[in-house]
Amino acid sequence: MKPVIGITCSYSWDREVYLIRENYVEAVVRSGGIPIILPATENADINKIISMIDGLLLSGGGDIDPYIYGEAPTPRLGRVDPVRDLFEIGLAKKAFEMEKPTLAICRGIQVLNVAAGGTLFQDLSSQLKNTIKHRWYSQGGYDAPPSHPAHLVRISKDSKLYKIFGREILRVNSFHHQAVKRIGEKFKATAWAEDGVIEAIEYLGDTFILGVQWHPERMINGEMIKLFKAFIEAAKS
Ligand code: MN
Repeated sequence: MKPVIGITCSYSWDREVYLIRENYVEAVVRSGGIPIILPATENADINKIISMIDGLLLSGGGDIDPYIYGEAPTPRLGRVDPVRDLFEIGLAKKAFEMEKPTLAICRGIQVLNVAAGGTLFQDLSSQLKNTIKHRWYSQGGYDAPPSHPAHLVRISKDSKLYKIFGREILRVNSFHHQAVKRIGEKFKATAWAEDGVIEAIEYLGDTFILGVQWHPERMINGEMIKLFKAFIEAAKS
């Protein structure tokens, strides 16, 4: 049986449209899953939604309202969407509770971490010294092709990521200005960039609940498809 994968998405207030890049959908389909898109709504029935899906894919997007993790907004904070924040944090908490396989990408890793009680850097380059370039985009567009492996990450050997890729160094793309600061409860960091920025976190225990700061869905013509295959495999059981 193909597992049903719920993919969260963004919302544009200007255009009144829900948005998801097709790469997420394609990555799920190519890995043997059935994608469904989950629009964030107020007062959503989180229990029902989680029970309808076999796996949760928390997709990329804007920033999380820092008041949720106990901080005031700093000047470089980007766009926030309070409806999406509440919806996705609700889904993530339910996923922990029900041990539902979850893959969290970019904003998704941040949602996972905040849902687990952790905190974020609101803007890496203004809050951390000597960072490498993590933000390969600007108002003008992308600074390299979206699949470009912009920097290295070092993977801990004691991790699901190491089992999936079989080595300690990976090159990944990078389209973020925020990152995990204090790690949430029941999670551990399992990959770091050269500047020490956390690039992956994993749930302690056997359940596949894993967040990455890069965008594997934009690198699926290479080995990043392995990450989706491992996720879909976990969602089957
Ligand atoms: Mn990065």
